[in-house]
Amino acid sequence: MASFKAIVIEKTEGAPSPILRDFDEADLMEGDVTVRVTHSTVNYKDGLALTGKAPVVRRWPMIPGVDCAGIVESSSSPDFRPGDHVILNGWGTGETHLGAYAEKTRVKSDWLIKLPTGLSAADAMALGTAGYTAMLCLLALERHDLRPERGPAIVTGAAGGVGSVAVALLAGAGWHVLASTGRPEEEAYLRGLGAAEIVTRAELAEKGRPLGKERWAAGVDTVGSTTLANVLSMTRYGGAVAACGLAGGMDLPATVAPFILRNVALLGVDSVMTPKALREQAWGRLARDLDRGKLAAMTRTIRLDEVVQAGRDIVEGKVRGRLVVEIA
Ligand code: NDP
Repeated sequence: MASFKAIVIEKTEGAPSPILRDFDEADLMEGDVTVRVTHSTVNYKDGLALTGKAPVVRRWPMIPGVDCAGIVESSSSPDFRPGDHVILNGWGTGETHLGAYAEKTRVKSDWLIKLPTGLSAADAMALGTAGYTAMLCLLALERHDLRPERGPAIVTGAAGGVGSVAVALLAGAGWHVLASTGRPEEEAYLRGLGAAEIVTRAELAEKGRPLGKERWAAGVDTVGSTTLANVLSMTRYGGAVAACGLAGGMDLPATVAPFILRNVALLGVDSVMTPKALREQAWGRLARDLDRGKLAAMTRTIRLDEVVQAGRDIVEGKVRGRLVVEIA
């Protein structure tokens, strides 16, 4: 029986113990496309799945990993042929469907998109869900008609994965970017990505006033909780904040004051169930706009056998920027 290497989580009472082992190909789940995975990545959500810190995994045994890039091995879909280079983000992979930390995966063709021209598989995973979510945030701000002329943009959790890509994208699009971080030692890194100013995490972490001084026109928030409440309270009249994360908490202790007195908008961003057309738009813009030098500066490459430790590190806030997992 054919098998391949995969990280597998079995159902346990306590914290999960993911192990790298052989996985029987016959146990792959349903899908019309089988992909030879060449690269994956470690997102915050992957860290939650690997450590069991949040109930991300909802099927056992599970191969975690929400993102992959690879080459189609076989397909019964008219949209994909063997040899096609593809990427997959979300749609429940690594949660309810066997995921990406494996040499092989079988998925629904509707979930796949072709690797955009000009982007390598390694670059696509250097971006991963984090980078594609950062682009979804930028697109949400643009749909709200926000442009750099309207004022500065703030990014919270700036030294993390979504944050790093958001800083680079916004700066590349001409925004004056304020990067909020709890790691002052990463100031040079963030300025290298294009941040014009650094805001300390602590400055946004304390409960603030319903309305503060108007400091930015736009925001990309990966932290949630009090931080998001403060970002909203300091957003200029008519501005907007794209909220995608909860690294600091799932609550939102805010008032309606920014919405009803300053016409501020809170734009929700989900990457998992994003329709295909918007995914393709986001990936196309990433391939076109993202400075590859900045992408390289924020990326470190690891092997499959280093993923479990990387999952622990990311939930402890120790990972800077992005991780690529080289599988093939
Ligand atoms: P990372 O761990 O790479 O980045 C998160 C960053 O948040 C950290 O680097 C740190 O930045 C900051 N941070 C961590 N803990 C705290 C805290 N307690 N208080 C304030 N800031 C904190 O994760 P990702 O970039 O991969 O993901 C960021 C968030 O976005 C996560 O919550 C993730 O679940 C969410 N997400 C949501 C998606 C969606 O579809 N909506 C898709 C992708 C991610 P620094 O050191 O600079 O302060």
